Amino acid sequence: MADNNIEKFQLYVPKLEELCNVLQTGLKNNFAEAQVSVVDCPDLTKEPFQFPVKGLCGQPRITDVGGVPYLVPLVQKDKEYNMNTVAKEVELPGAFILGAGAVPSRIVGMNAELMPLVLTEAPGRPAVNSSYFSSINPADGQCLLERYSDTFSDCNFALLANLYACEGKPGKVIEVRAKKRTGEESLVGSLRNTLEAHYPDKSLALGGTFIIQKGKAKIHIMPREFSVCPLNTNDEVNNWLKHFEVSAPLICQSVFVSRDPGLDLRLEHTHCFSHHGEGGHYYIDTTPDTVEYLGYFMPAEFVYRIDRPKETHVIGRD
Ligand SMILES: [Zn+2]
Repeated sequence: MADNNIEKFQLYVPKLEELCNVLQTGLKNNFAEAQVSVVDCPDLTKEPFQFPVKGLCGQPRITDVGGVPYLVPLVQKDKEYNMNTVAKEVELPGAFILGAGAVPSRIVGMNAELMPLVLTEAPGRPAVNSSYFSSINPADGQCLLERYSDTFSDCNFALLANLYACEGKPGKVIEVRAKKRTGEESLVGSLRNTLEAHYPDKSLALGGTFIIQKGKAKIHIMPREFSVCPLNTNDEVNNWLKHFEVSAPLICQSVFVSRDPGLDLRLEHTHCFSHHGEGGHYYIDTTPDTVEYLGYFMPAEFVYRIDRPKETHVIGRD
């Protein structure tokens, strides 16, 4: 793992109360019921989260590491990263990190979706890796969700990740409640598009977690084997991915950016896990009439672009 190229950009951070008003108004275009308010972050060490820290607060920032160009058209297996290193690269050693990424295939022995939940190492304290990963079960072709630390002891990941980092402290956060989807946008898409429309000349980013409390959702899981044929179009990528419909309750980790400030960012990325063996890359709920969302988010102060691909494209970023 050579020293990575890092670019840093300061994001626009409105007052939480202002964000609540903007987001609630926007969500009502896509959901029959929407309520956004400033609350004390619930204790995230408790059910259903079981995160290694209590809250989402303290120097919030996001990072986009690597990218889809390291996965398609053909995989670049040397693209491996470490959460402890990333915490230092985003100038927050010992940070709590959550988000969406890919497992280190060199260590895991296959490709899989990663749901990072890592309290990174600090002087006198080892890292706590509470991440999940989901793969295709070779026995039945279905989803296989596992706790990363049940088998592996590292904090590595590979290829790409969209991560939210903070001190993991309690504090004020934005609570999002939405029920009954009336529009075509996912929860994350609706929040992101609302920010882009309301702040057209600014870049904002939110990171956090939300629960799909009722209903089902469309997800994908990458196959265990990387494609040996180049994947050159979105259709080819989607044919390679395995798609599933999974059931609530699902706990999602999400990072999204309203507008790319010129860093070749992935604008939204959300992975989910559950306590009933399902998890993967979230697209949207498939039960608009019954779906219920409850989420907690914080606006990030900075975005760090780590190891940005020199040769890029826009394939496979859904
Ligand atoms: Zn993903």
